[in-house]
Amino acid sequence: MNYENILYESLGPVVRISLNRPELRNAQSRMLLRELDEALRRAEADEGARVVILAGVGDHFSSGHDLKNARAERPNPTVEERWLYEEEHFYDYCLRLHDLRKPTIAQVQGACIAAGFMLANMCDLIVCAEDAFFSDPVAHSMGTASLEVLVHPWVMGMRLAKELLFTGRRLPAVEALQIGMINKVVPRAALEDETLRLANTVADAPPFGLKLVKRSLNRTWDAQGFRVALSAHFDGHQLSHVSGEFQKNLQRGLDATISAAKNMGAK
Ligand code: ZN
Repeated sequence: MNYENILYESLGPVVRISLNRPELRNAQSRMLLRELDEALRRAEADEGARVVILAGVGDHFSSGHDLKNARAERPNPTVEERWLYEEEHFYDYCLRLHDLRKPTIAQVQGACIAAGFMLANMCDLIVCAEDAFFSDPVAHSMGTASLEVLVHPWVMGMRLAKELLFTGRRLPAVEALQIGMINKVVPRAALEDETLRLANTVADAPPFGLKLVKRSLNRTWDAQGFRVALSAHFDGHQLSHVSGEFQKNLQRGLDATISAAKNMGAK
């Protein structure tokens, strides 16, 4: 398969899938998400691939969903249409990454915002460059109940999750390391090598054992209510899309909304 929005590289036992729209800060369009989902299925089916790295080409991992693409393709979705679209492309695709039967590592530099945050946090491990930062400013700036997959309280303490969502502030890589949300911070120039080194170390382990231990670890979250909480939030998120607050923000225009989100993320 030829991809237009991602890169797929086989590096020995490691597959590296990179979001490849650097001129748009790897904004996630419908086509990009489709290609990513297809690539993940391909890596999962490839017996030679033991570990998957998810990366972003250019200065930033991902600025989130491609809102301009969404407006062009789905200008006035009904409740039913939006639900279906977000369930398949945002919720199901994310959970498929979370459930991938092989270990995954997010390789993050620059901005990792909103749906970028959601995507990176679906991976098992995260390696960051020093310039990486995370944010989810959409509740504060746009009036939606965060993102479709509310992974935040599972990857950080509840207190901090609330602060980040209530204020929209950025979480720098160093702080993310301190709280255990990520595994490693390395100089920007060393990011690719260090991530690949970690991937190869993981790839040395017997793959069936890794598959089982990942399954058990993910089931630990399930036993704590992970999926129930996520699916309940998805419903609330859909409701927020049709709230008066969100509609008012839409009327201000997409550019104003995006710039408000960006400014909020900068604080
Ligand atoms: Zn949504």
